[in-house]
Amino acid sequence: MPKSDVKFWHLDAPESTKRLAEWAEDMGSESAVICPLHEGHRRAGKRQPNLKIVLPGKTVDDVDDFVWTWYSECLVQDHVLELFRRAGLTGYEVKPVTAKFKRTTEPPPRLWELVVTGWAGMAPPESGIRLIEKCEGCGYLGYSGCDNPERLIDPSQWDGSDFFIVWPLPKFIFVTDRVAKLIRENGLTGVRLKDPRRLDLSGGFGPGRLSYWMPEARARELGGPLGID
Ligand SMILES: [Zn+2]
Repeated sequence: MPKSDVKFWHLDAPESTKRLAEWAEDMGSESAVICPLHEGHRRAGKRQPNLKIVLPGKTVDDVDDFVWTWYSECLVQDHVLELFRRAGLTGYEVKPVTAKFKRTTEPPPRLWELVVTGWAGMAPPESGIRLIEKCEGCGYLGYSGCDNPERLIDPSQWDGSDFFIVWPLPKFIFVTDRVAKLIRENGLTGVRLKDPRRLDLSGGFGPGRLSYWMPEARARELGGPLGID
């Protein structure tokens, strides 16, 4: 199938926030980034590599197939990862997650954090997203909002992965129709599939650096030539 004919979806958390997981108290950020030039660039640095979370609910029956944190991290249960692997889906790695329930000492299900390594490059200028600030002091990157989401994903820059991101939206997980079908056919819970062309992204973005979001070597390979690693 030509790349331009592939259907894409945005993988998102459920509308309700009641099953979102919290970061465990000792997560925090490794360190704040403090800009020598602009006070307003101060921000959380790179996160600890492995997530530690607190699940709402009391037992495994209260945990969906997909679990999301308040910071938009996407986690999947073991059997979901198994489905992904059996289907040969590409464009992701997983990291182990330490979980516990907020109100009980019941053993939690085994969870994995999805780290997206697939790539559809930079949002094209037609999307409306432009680099508007690049700080020499701290590496801050500021981008304008997207006023044409229909042009956000440029199939010619897509590497063919089933899971991928578009810069500067590292928190938005995009997937192919293969993933969408697998989710629907297996009735997986805790996840919504949205049409990326209908996203409201008008607010502008300050995504940090690509290495916050991807394994370091991959971030260097993709982001180095673009100055965003
Ligand atoms: Zn700065």
